Amino acid sequence: MYRGDRDQDTICAVSTPHGVGGISVIRVSGPKTLSFVSQICKFLPEHPESHRAYFGSLKDLSSHDEIDEVLATYFKHGKSFTGEEVIEISCHGSPVICQSILHQLVQLGARPADRGEFTYRAFMNGKLDLVQAESVLSLIESQSQQAAKLALRQLKGSVSQKLEDIENDMTWILAHAEAGIDFSTEGIKVVENDIVLNRLDKIEKSLEELVGTFKVGRLLKDGFRVVLTGLPNVGKSSLLNLFLEDERAIVTDIPGTTRDVIHGDTSFKGVKFTFLDTAGLRESVSDLVEKIGIQKSREATGESDFVFFVFDVEKGLSAEEIAILDGLDPQKTYILANKTDRLAQTPEVFAVEEALQNSKFFQKIGDLESFRKRRVFFVSALDKKVRSRVLEDLVKEFGDLQLENTVLISNSRHLENLTRALENTRRSKSVVEDGLGEEFLAIEFKEALIAIQETLGKRFDDQIMDRVFKEFCIGK
Ligand code: GDP
Repeated sequence: MYRGDRDQDTICAVSTPHGVGGISVIRVSGPKTLSFVSQICKFLPEHPESHRAYFGSLKDLSSHDEIDEVLATYFKHGKSFTGEEVIEISCHGSPVICQSILHQLVQLGARPADRGEFTYRAFMNGKLDLVQAESVLSLIESQSQQAAKLALRQLKGSVSQKLEDIENDMTWILAHAEAGIDFSTEGIKVVENDIVLNRLDKIEKSLEELVGTFKVGRLLKDGFRVVLTGLPNVGKSSLLNLFLEDERAIVTDIPGTTRDVIHGDTSFKGVKFTFLDTAGLRESVSDLVEKIGIQKSREATGESDFVFFVFDVEKGLSAEEIAILDGLDPQKTYILANKTDRLAQTPEVFAVEEALQNSKFFQKIGDLESFRKRRVFFVSALDKKVRSRVLEDLVKEFGDLQLENTVLISNSRHLENLTRALENTRRSKSVVEDGLGEEFLAIEFKEALIAIQETLGKRFDDQIMDRVFKEFCIGK
């Protein structure tokens, strides 16, 4: 789709969301931008100033009828988002007007832009590296303050800078390894193994750190997916509404999917949370059919980041509930003992512990005390404070990270490449440690460098371009 021979075309598209709005913006980019647009915007001077908006009447090419009153902002070649000559036409936000203007531009010889083609051109013209291009998309799509902040930091180059540093270190090692090959016949050692190992260690550490940030980076970007599970009538729906702050309007029922799930989004401390109530489980669990119920609950919870297992504290944990718990991953499970308002006195955590003692879940926990402290909540769906008490704890799990100053990756393409680079780096270390010689180091370590360069887009092929830009929509 993205080929060099199309890069000389002048392209156009509506860059604002589709539909009716106060204004819409049509972006035109390419070498013939001014010559095309000035034929329908006669009010534009022959040599417009860059970054200046001009106001006037946009007219039909053949009938000369006025289509709209518009504002045309001119960006000269080299000074625009794409790096090409660009004009942004702000017109009234009607799809009919947008279509007529696009039609005029196409008649003049402009081509409708492909998905992400403006950002693609910015990349090809060296305005952005590939990591930054991807963060444009993340920023547009961000659904919480934290996600937007993360994307903006990436757009400004926080990840890119770190990768550039790693790339420089890698290039140093490869240059020395290759020089070593040339001199080896003369018995000259260009650089001592210890020094190379030191540098490899440093690279390994940087890569490990970056790979290790993916989990948090992805959570900040996409938000936390939390599944509420448990037997019928324990209070899952009530808690769901509590967490969503009674945002019933966005609690939606999606029938006809593989399983029926009620879900809704909310935000806490700038982080997005998606809550899912495993409604589809209800019937199968109630006439259990134990195995099927447990299987279904596994499926529903498997894709989540956290599971809130809810039970009725008045009734205690039943054997059936312990069986469901056994199928859950303690690493992501929180136990919500609900309906505490029905109890005459403060509930005892020991009752939960006792019930868990002989379960498989308990065997997986390891440290029961710490699990109980962090993961067992006595709650009541009638108590509004429960929301912040529980969510605070989830967010806190990531609190020790100085998010403002940490470079985080959040894109799976980056994760794959950096993991590859890390593996190659580790193998390169063994090559040096085993004294296998510079040739072998050069071969092995080259792969690590390639992985970094592919991440930044310094090396790319059609496959990489397609993978990155197919995610975009038209006009971006
Ligand atoms: P679900 O089937 O697990 O989704 O449970 P629901 O949320 O539909 O709740 C079942 C019943 O328990 C409803 O009548 C709720 O009003 C009630 N309920 C839920 N949570 C609480 C609670 O914390 N305290 C009290 N007293 N009643 C609750």
